[in-house]
Amino acid sequence: MSQKVENQEFLPFVRPNISEQTISDVVECLRSGWIATGPKVQLLEQKLQDYVQAPHAQLLTSATAALHLALLALDIKPGDEVITTPMTFVATLNVIALCGAKPVLVDVEPGTYNIDVNQIEAKITPKTKVIMPVHFAGLPVDLDPLYALAKKYNLRVIEDAAHAIGSSYKGKKIGSFGDIQVFSFHPCKNMTTAEGGCIVSRDDSFANRISQLRFHGIDRDAWNRYSKGGSQHFDILMPGYKFNMSDLQATIGCDQLAQLDASNQRRKEIVDWYYEQLQGWDEVILPSISDYDHFNSWHIFAPLINTQVCGISRDDFMAKMKEYNIGTGLHYPAVHSFSYYQKTYGYQIGDFPTAEHIGNHVTSLPLFPNITIEEQHRVINAMKQIFNRK
Ligand SMILES: *Cc1c(COP(=O)(O)O)cnc(C)c1O
Repeated sequence: MSQKVENQEFLPFVRPNISEQTISDVVECLRSGWIATGPKVQLLEQKLQDYVQAPHAQLLTSATAALHLALLALDIKPGDEVITTPMTFVATLNVIALCGAKPVLVDVEPGTYNIDVNQIEAKITPKTKVIMPVHFAGLPVDLDPLYALAKKYNLRVIEDAAHAIGSSYKGKKIGSFGDIQVFSFHPCKNMTTAEGGCIVSRDDSFANRISQLRFHGIDRDAWNRYSKGGSQHFDILMPGYKFNMSDLQATIGCDQLAQLDASNQRRKEIVDWYYEQLQGWDEVILPSISDYDHFNSWHIFAPLINTQVCGISRDDFMAKMKEYNIGTGLHYPAVHSFSYYQKTYGYQIGDFPTAEHIGNHVTSLPLFPNITIEEQHRVINAMKQIFNRK
């Protein structure tokens, strides 16, 4: 390896894009005297409602908290079953387990890594209450047949849309239709509030339950009880959680949301470039594109390493990229490979072969809106050297 590589700065696989404007807005919020849940949270909720075109967008401390409360608000409890995918971040399953319910897994499609909607019906039992699809990398799951099944069996749907803010399915934005959607604003996601998440719904009584559950079980949004117009009196309807977002975080989110469409467009350009560059390489298998009309927000670009052709494992590939000072991501090991899920639900290696294959071969290449073309070339050049391509 050349001296030059050692001198190159580490290129992470993701880097949040925080503008100077955001920094000064956060300083202003700090000086305003109101830093916990307040007007900025309300403002961002309003902006998100406008953006996804839904009557309710409720901010929480994380998408994990949002998924958890969504299940609790639907009264999911021990004995219930929730159908989801093994190809996701473990939070999707953890929250089901935390409710005492059973995650029932359905294998994924080999090209899109999304839950295979055709296999869902066979897994529905009288205990099934919810289907929780994940829009992997921002590519919308085939929602028409999924919602048809939910209707047929009277099931609720919580879309784990952590990757998919700005994505659309058949001309409709994710969040603008269907049942419940959860977005993540973790720094790795398409827009950030440092930490944060959002629940979108069209169901007033569900949204009301979320307001109570996210703030102690208080009977209404009581964040303003310290302001001049607020009242100190409230009732507790149930023991609630403390999952409310702060104004500091929402301030970041307002700027991020304003940039979202432009930065998703940038992601698409970067991914198009990767597809172009990697076209015809046998050493990698590129994710496939669904044939229905959609817009992909491209949260990550996650090809598979074709180990049989290139002769090195995915882990070796990631280690070698690091020698070139390039970070890659692992999204994700199949969730049923984790010991807790094997021990608790009896899942075994071999149960979901497609998810396992992806989990063992996938790697995410650097992708973020302000990556430079030089940095993109560094990625491709490093891969050429690792694979001994001319
Ligand atoms: C990031 C992520 C989550 C959790 O998001 P947080 O905001 O970090 O809690 C859940 N599901 C998926 C698919 C994710 O990628």
